[in-house]
Amino acid sequence: MTHTSTAIIMRTWEYGESDLLVSFFTPDQGSLKGVAKGARKSRKRFSNCLDLLCVSRLEYDKRPGRDLCFLHSGKLIRVFPALRSDFASLALASYMLELTEVLFPVGVVEERMFHLLSYLMDAIEGGGEVRQVRIQFEARALALAGYGINVSRCCVCGRSYAGEGRAVFRQQSGGISCMRCGKETAYSPGLDPDSVRLLKSVQARPCTEAMAVNCQEKTLEEIRRVLDLHIQYQTGKRFKSAEYLL
Ligand SMILES: [Zn+2]
Repeated sequence: MTHTSTAIIMRTWEYGESDLLVSFFTPDQGSLKGVAKGARKSRKRFSNCLDLLCVSRLEYDKRPGRDLCFLHSGKLIRVFPALRSDFASLALASYMLELTEVLFPVGVVEERMFHLLSYLMDAIEGGGEVRQVRIQFEARALALAGYGINVSRCCVCGRSYAGEGRAVFRQQSGGISCMRCGKETAYSPGLDPDSVRLLKSVQARPCTEAMAVNCQEKTLEEIRRVLDLHIQYQTGKRFKSAEYLL
């Protein structure tokens, strides 16, 4: 059956003499991998639309029982020239794609994830601050994948967090505890009320809503440490592209 989807091109590999393997992320079918026959020889059917990190409209057949779909043709919709020409932006976008592949593997469809990705790629293209975009992406992508950090109550005693006093992140619970139930260490870093509030609002924000994060350096750093520990624990992975991030 032939489908047409908007897609973000996530990765390509040379295949055979003239073909290209392409992995792409769509709003309606999730992550897919397909073969574009002759794409490296004739550029007519796939004119620039299979370049990494562009948004294209792809026409393809999904074949029952087969992992690879068959790409018929494509049309380029959007490129991100500023994002591609800046190292820090490109590193962040590559990392966003890598995390997407892990959180939403083939077969897991989440339309909002597509919108989050393309919205934040737009934000980077428009000059959005890389560290802030990264936090927004991670917090929301994790929440969409079902790994949101529970900041509403203490994960040990159950007391609801009223937004006062420091809290402690608990890696194994994926939540916070009050200061009576936990103490700050390198693996259970503390969070100020401002940090908890920001984390909560970032996780809950719709994916395509603009969000200017006005916060202090300390808040960003606290959230950064918590997200690093949380992602490490939940995915069990080290991300190659993360090594190049600021
Ligand atoms: Zn407690």
